[in-house]
Amino acid sequence: MKLLIKVGFLTSLFFLFACNNHVETKPKSIITKSKPTVSFTFDDGNTEDIANYKFEDWNKSILNTLKKADLKSVFFVTGFNKTDKKGTYLLTEWDKQNHSIANHTFSHPNFNDKNNTLEIFEDELQKTDSIIHQYKNYVKYFRFPYLKEGKSKEKIDGIRSILKENNYKNGYVTIDASDWYVNSRLINQMKYRKKVDTLAFQEFYLNHIIDRANFYESLSFELNGRHIKHTLLLHHNLSSALFLKSLIKRFKKEGWEVIDAIEAYKDPIYESLPAVAPAGESLIWSLAKESGKFEEILRYPAEDSRYEKAEMDRLGL
Ligand SMILES: [Zn+2]
Repeated sequence: MKLLIKVGFLTSLFFLFACNNHVETKPKSIITKSKPTVSFTFDDGNTEDIANYKFEDWNKSILNTLKKADLKSVFFVTGFNKTDKKGTYLLTEWDKQNHSIANHTFSHPNFNDKNNTLEIFEDELQKTDSIIHQYKNYVKYFRFPYLKEGKSKEKIDGIRSILKENNYKNGYVTIDASDWYVNSRLINQMKYRKKVDTLAFQEFYLNHIIDRANFYESLSFELNGRHIKHTLLLHHNLSSALFLKSLIKRFKKEGWEVIDAIEAYKDPIYESLPAVAPAGESLIWSLAKESGKFEEILRYPAEDSRYEKAEMDRLGL
């Protein structure tokens, strides 16, 4: 925020100077550069009805919101539930609206677990690739389940080699949050309570995601000296169906520019391969860890239900 004020102040000075001297200027570029940028990506691909919402309806709600906002996302999908009728319908609908379809393993294993070997990794990658490659908006980006990329250097290097051999890029996240946890508590209340204060859930959700976005943006600015093109991780779930519209509005209100996810991935930041172990979390977390300069503010895991539970309990959510 301080920076925005500073840039705003400098821009005003610039205007003042320019007007007084009758110089033709283009101050707009200065304003544009001062804006952080965010794009939206969705993980998993759920094909179930949720509470009283039919799968087709809540899925459509996400797609309609993206369409109205004129935004394209990258949809990172698991393969296990994408070959039946509902799974095929889901991928077809997203593909038809020109969202990119990317790889999120077949069965969603945690690669920090030593039982999930390199052989399993390659099998998981290729199985889902064989399902999604038929879609016209298929892209070779891979997102790690739980953002866990391996604990040992040997495994991390092995996984990176396999990705490269298969012409895949890491579908990094720069802004991580716990939308999945808010979603799980919302659904839980819908199951067991007659009345659910959905607006209170929305308020918590919006504040939480904006808070995490601001945290990763300021950390990223410290590290890179510029506003990178961020990628926010959300899940294909009910909270996205109900709250995405307000989230996009809130980002804009807070001065963020919203862009297509595939456009964000063109930022050179996504070519980084941070040398940290365990690897994973948000890319910004990893780069900050690698720098060794932010030890007091880097928690592990970077995001988790444990950080949100007490406040949600307190609010009765
Ligand atoms: Zn996932």
